[in-house]
Amino acid sequence: MSKILVLGAALGGLQTALLLAGDGHRVTVLERDAHRAPADAESAWSRWRRPGIPQMQQTHLPLARWLQLAEAHLPELVGRMTAAGAVRMNVVAPEPGLRGSLRAGDERFDTLAARRSLLEAAATEAAEAAGIDIRRGVACRGLHRSSRGLHSSRDAGASGRARSGRQCPVHVTGVETNEGTLTADLVVDCTGRRSQLPSWLRDIGVREVGEERGRRGFVYYSRYFRSADGALPTSTFPLVVEHGSLGLLRIPADHGSYSVCLVSRGDDLQLRHLLRREAAWSAAVRQFPGAELWLDGHPLTDGVRIMAGLSDRKRNLYDTEHPLVTGLVAVGDSWAFTVPTVGRGLTMSLQHGLVLRDALRRTGTGEPEDLVAEFGRATDDSLAPVYRRTTFYTHHRLAEMDAHAAGLPYRDPDWSRSRALVRLAQRDPDALRAERAAAHLLPGAREELRAPALADAVARLVPEVEQDLPPGPSRAELLAAIGG
Ligand SMILES: Cc1cc2nc3c(=O)[nH]c(=O)nc-3n(C[C@H](O)[C@H](O)[C@H](O)COP(=O)(O)OP(=O)(O)OC[C@H]3O[C@@H](n4cnc5c(N)ncnc54)[C@H](O)[C@@H]3O)c2cc1C
Repeated sequence: MSKILVLGAALGGLQTALLLAGDGHRVTVLERDAHRAPADAESAWSRWRRPGIPQMQQTHLPLARWLQLAEAHLPELVGRMTAAGAVRMNVVAPEPGLRGSLRAGDERFDTLAARRSLLEAAATEAAEAAGIDIRRGVACRGLHRSSRGLHSSRDAGASGRARSGRQCPVHVTGVETNEGTLTADLVVDCTGRRSQLPSWLRDIGVREVGEERGRRGFVYYSRYFRSADGALPTSTFPLVVEHGSLGLLRIPADHGSYSVCLVSRGDDLQLRHLLRREAAWSAAVRQFPGAELWLDGHPLTDGVRIMAGLSDRKRNLYDTEHPLVTGLVAVGDSWAFTVPTVGRGLTMSLQHGLVLRDALRRTGTGEPEDLVAEFGRATDDSLAPVYRRTTFYTHHRLAEMDAHAAGLPYRDPDWSRSRALVRLAQRDPDALRAERAAAHLLPGAREELRAPALADAVARLVPEVEQDLPPGPSRAELLAAIGG
């Protein structure tokens, strides 16, 4: 069994640490933030200082696929979250398009709803109970490498150059921290969206790491509330509404709390300026039919929590034929960040942790090049397609928002089909199930979407979708309502 250092004790790092410790590896987690999670959910929400997770008070909901995987592979994590107050909820149950009650099989749409602080605190507890050493206040500042390429390779000569003539990958043997050097058989970077990995790699001589980065992205404007009686303001509501210049998320959480979040384009400076004011934010929420009731709860956040710079980004670390680096892998947001509107981050980081666990089962750490090749191949096969589908969404949704601001409909054949599916899902429960299954990354969803009857119904709706602007106020009406 191997000695593994996981960098970052947020959910991505803790899930990965739990999976690897479950296989008997000796896992230590380094976390830059020094503070322990307070014991109860309300203190974790209001008093836990966690600058390393700036999205802590932003709207969060794990996908249904996350719960399926967590129940199958990390049941103790789900148990701790539930005991702390996370609520099992079904993501199709409140949707107006359900038109009736749930049926057998709809449990696949269950997930756990809770504030991110509760999920983090419960995951920390689960990791500690599993005997994982979490070292708080220890920041990774750089990587430590062996003096030549590979420490053990079938292909390496004494110079560190492979007999085939190519440069051997740099082999990481540990990390530099504020508490000195720590060594490991494998370093797993889970330091998230803002991970410093490219500069750490440059410092140890790894040539430039390729990065795909969306030029544009979204801004989140979140507020949390609690209703007087602990019930949600309405029992029927769409969790996500995508109107012209704005999206609206209504997401249940733990202990009677829920969040309301507006989403705009990152470069919509007019809305960015206006929506930071509570009154303008509330006026914008009221533009969505039925959403005004969601403003009646007791606020759990002062003002509007804003987070910008939310664009897709993926690092190309794993050229599987010629790996740049061995002894180190990036898992979760450090490898690829996807815009949060699609809510895939926690699920992808759990899937990525499973990919790593399985690669380690097949190769161990004894032949480091085999491990990164295996891990890179499996990452490409299982997660890169999800990343690509997210960039499709981001590109077209931003273009649709641009068109709406200009008072025009947005036309693109592929996007029109996906919009037609969303519209059909508002009228037809089977279409709703197929659409939500795909959005929640559930197994078999792509086959459901390809069913001929559904594909025909979607095709028939395309002309309607292409003619209409999305329902809701025009740009001018929105600006007038929020004081622009
Ligand atoms: C606004 C917003 C909303 C989101 N909503 C959803 C959602 O609804 N559903 C969903 O599934 N996902 C959502 N996500 C994504 C989700 O938050 C991430 O995918 C998830 O946090 C996993 O990320 P992570 O653990 O890899 O990194 P992070 O959460 O970014 O955590 C990184 C950790 O590393 C630590 N760290 C950083 N640098 C160092 C260092 N040098 N040394 C040691 N430790 C370090 C940090 O302190 C932190 O604890 C959202 C993200 C954002 C930004």
